[in-house]
Amino acid sequence: MAVDSAISSPLGPPACEKDAKALQFIEETTRNADAVQERVLAEILSRNAETEYLKRFKLHGATDRDTFKSVIPMITYEDLQPEIQRIANGDRSPILSAHPISEFLTSSGTSAGERKLMPTIQEELDRRQLLYSLLMPVMNLYVPGLDKGKGLYFLFVKAESKTPGGLLARPVLTSYYKSDHFKTRPYDPYNVQTSPNEAILCADSFQSMYSQMLCGLVERHQVLRLGAVFASGLLRAIRFLQLNWTQLAHDIRTGTVNPKITDPGIKDCLARILKPQPELADFIAKECSEDNWEGIITRIWPNTKYLDVIVTGAMAQYIPTLDHYSGGLPLACTMYASSECYFGLNLNPMCKPSEVSYTIMPNMAYFEFLPHEPNSACSTRGSAPKLVDLVDVEVGKEYELVITTYAGLYRYRVGDILRVTGFHNSAPQFHFVRRKNVLLSIDSDKTDEAELQKAMENASEILRNFNTSVVEYTSYADTTTIPGHYVIYWELLVKDPANSPSHEVLNRCCLAMEETLNSVYRQGRVADNSIGPLEIRVVKNGTFEELMDYAISRGASINQYKVPRCVNFTPIMELLDSRVVSAHFSPALPRWTPERRR
Ligand code: AMP
Repeated sequence: MAVDSAISSPLGPPACEKDAKALQFIEETTRNADAVQERVLAEILSRNAETEYLKRFKLHGATDRDTFKSVIPMITYEDLQPEIQRIANGDRSPILSAHPISEFLTSSGTSAGERKLMPTIQEELDRRQLLYSLLMPVMNLYVPGLDKGKGLYFLFVKAESKTPGGLLARPVLTSYYKSDHFKTRPYDPYNVQTSPNEAILCADSFQSMYSQMLCGLVERHQVLRLGAVFASGLLRAIRFLQLNWTQLAHDIRTGTVNPKITDPGIKDCLARILKPQPELADFIAKECSEDNWEGIITRIWPNTKYLDVIVTGAMAQYIPTLDHYSGGLPLACTMYASSECYFGLNLNPMCKPSEVSYTIMPNMAYFEFLPHEPNSACSTRGSAPKLVDLVDVEVGKEYELVITTYAGLYRYRVGDILRVTGFHNSAPQFHFVRRKNVLLSIDSDKTDEAELQKAMENASEILRNFNTSVVEYTSYADTTTIPGHYVIYWELLVKDPANSPSHEVLNRCCLAMEETLNSVYRQGRVADNSIGPLEIRVVKNGTFEELMDYAISRGASINQYKVPRCVNFTPIMELLDSRVVSAHFSPALPRWTPERRR
């Protein structure tokens, strides 16, 4: 149970009538967390009692927790592959869910190099919308006056494809932005945005970003908050401004639109918004032509009260850069969600990034928690692991999140490790610790050790012709560039110095690695421009031995020492960088198309 000091206080007072209802909903749902969880599980199991999956495990229509826990196994995506493939191929029988699968949501987590396909049902949109509807009422408790201006949010849709059976497959946010839930959302004075729907819904990422930036610049005094889903997205917008401010200022000066904007919907919108504003254009040109962009966000958007971006998990690496561009504005992480299910929200969104905790909303799905032993390779070895219910998790302990959803995932391991920080009423609050098995991440890409190893092996094939091999390697996500990029440190053994691999050959190795990395990485490189060209830094012979000496000097055991496949500790980076003899970049984009390879 929660200790008293870890229970947060009631929410209030609300900013308006509508907020009062939302806050009351949060209070009631979290106060009755266990009863809500019991009801959610019973609903999911009773409506899906006749599905092939639940019948297979002989649940026989039971809807109680004990029976459920005793017969339904905990699974991963790989376990569900055959069912998912059948649905993707057009089998419309009730395999996982009694409600028809409306589409697949393509997760940024991958399986065999391709995005995972998460089945979803139409009514999940209501649940997502419900969670979104709670965010501003909570924010209004901490930041007054958000109804006096607008939000500049950089939001994007991504490519969609169809499965062989004809179901759409696309990211969850693309699905949400294209839904009527988003497009015809009722006017809310506390949640007015500068970006027109037409700009958000344009699939061409340049036109979408350009028009969203233009609208944000024109309404610069109105903007009270700036945001994107992830920190990397907001920094990409700043980089876009660096590269395109001349043309943007030109459009504002003349009241005409860049000829590269060809989308008719966007052109109509901009025609309504744009008029010649030479003073504004001068101001933007003056600010943007300065060499020093420190504090650029508050210079251009002086009324910004906070940045609304996720900076927890892998995104924490962007906090210093965001602070640089914003002069240290508060960073608000408002929600925690995934393609499988939207989980919960931050009830104290203006807290420091390191203190962010998400309260899981018990109405969203049935949640269980697998105790996570940080130092054991596999916490499920031996006897069957005991999963803990939402209200029974313990403060200070770490767990892996396991969900049962209305769309038909049963005891599914999400792969996120969370630490309990406290409770709001009887609903626990979690610090996002990390996603399991992620070595490198720049944007939504997630590369694990096996994928990096495979990419390495492919690239080092090229070196064979030069009688050269890679003795050791490690990697690093370099976010000092925008977009960030993967850096791979290589120590080479060149057996025939007269025939050593040239600069061009090593560049080709960079591309060969990129070609092997998963489709989320390649999409980031090709379609989203959210990841820069991969870099190989060749280090002097003996560098990895020095790395080992360093680790041992800091207490590592000589017998158990393993080369870390990813590094981010400054002294180690400094050591590696001081031994670099040459640097090489991918000379081209890897292959990527929206169609899946399998
Ligand atoms: P996707 O299914 O591609 O939308 O990715 C969902 C995953 O993104 C989650 O399982 C988390 O690993 C990560 N994620 C989502 N929201 C947050 C957050 N607020 N903080 C940290 N990581 C997050």
